[in-house]
Amino acid sequence: MTANLLDYDLDGLAAFCERLGEKRFRATQLFRWIHQKGAAQFDDMTDLAKSLREKLRTTAHIQAPVVLSQHISSDGTIKWLFDVGGGNAIETVFIPEDDRGTLCVSSQAGCAVGCRFCSTGHQGFSRNLNPAEIIGQLWFAEHFLRKHLGVDERVISNVVMMGMGEPLQNYQPVVQSLRVMLDDHGYGLSRRRVTVSTSGVVPKMDRLGQDCPVALAVSLHAPNDVLRDNLVPLNRSYPLQELMQACQRYLAFAPRDFITFEYCMLDGVNDTAVHAAELVQLIQSHGKQGWCKLNLIPFNPFPASGLKRSSNAAVQAFSKIVSDAGIITTVRKTRGDDIDAACGQLAGDVQDRTAVGKRIAKQRTFVLTPVFDAPESQRDNQP
Ligand code: SAH
Ligand code: SF4
Repeated sequence: MTANLLDYDLDGLAAFCERLGEKRFRATQLFRWIHQKGAAQFDDMTDLAKSLREKLRTTAHIQAPVVLSQHISSDGTIKWLFDVGGGNAIETVFIPEDDRGTLCVSSQAGCAVGCRFCSTGHQGFSRNLNPAEIIGQLWFAEHFLRKHLGVDERVISNVVMMGMGEPLQNYQPVVQSLRVMLDDHGYGLSRRRVTVSTSGVVPKMDRLGQDCPVALAVSLHAPNDVLRDNLVPLNRSYPLQELMQACQRYLAFAPRDFITFEYCMLDGVNDTAVHAAELVQLIQSHGKQGWCKLNLIPFNPFPASGLKRSSNAAVQAFSKIVSDAGIITTVRKTRGDDIDAACGQLAGDVQDRTAVGKRIAKQRTFVLTPVFDAPESQRDNQP
């Protein structure tokens, strides 16, 4: 079994090259070929000595998860389903906007937190992704998009760890992947443009602040412990007071001077004026004006949840109460609705491939690459 070079950050690759008797600058060259140019074949790396390419061919490979399907929404959002083996699949979503391109990346197959309003949570936990499976999503998407848009420059300017899974419950592989995203020899993304979203794994929030401070989003969803215990079961381990204090500690290291709170709006559950007032109180009692921003997310329903999306009027009324109290509040636009690519709709369930095939057939398949037309045996991992 040869080493998958997507599993390494630059230090890891340097250690690997050292074992082959190569200097660190060779590792840097190799890293740039992989992440900046999207190379998957050692023979394409023309400025590496032939002898090194030969050694690499026998000891290493470059392999992202295999693409199972690809869909494009009428709003330009693209969703990929990747096979991660054992009947598991993960999803990655590209969201183009006028001034940026955001990739929403998965960190686990399934999720153990089990939030009531999240279809990944309902699916349960399958397994942690390894670094190659995490960074492989960016590697594939970036180079695929460059190739098909016919551009040399970067297409993905922002990464959000908001796909399937709880990133801080898969800590080391996630941090290693973040390092590759931030590395100037890798994707060179600014810390402010890489966001980890967490349901509140307090000890790991502290570690992230030390190890790799990037922008932080915290999934709040409730202004008191009774309700949050019910919606986000992890709250029973790390209740709101502890979570708020961890947010304050994180701010000392964060690349931005605020934390983003996500709040999924559930009809009659957490969206009343009383909840809004309680939320204002919670936020104001834990920091000075402007220490956080609030992002209200209209709930994306799925049948098993038994929950409903709040009405627009309720969202607006809630938003007004918190904004009037001086808390910067935005309402998230849903993107990729027509291809089930919106927040919380990522289920990645390919246990039944026939059902997925039927669903895919009803949707628009991205015309540029007929990945799904190729027989399974001929599909590869090339962007
Ligand atoms: N596990 C992490 C990151 C993945 S979830 C977390 O919970 O933060 C990313 C975001 O999508 C979270 O804010 C989550 O609360 C939200 N979300 C989950 N299910 C949703 C749904 N059905 N509708 C809208 N947002 C949802
Ligand atoms: Fe897991 Fe996040 Fe979904 Fe909760 S919202 S179940 S933490 S993926």
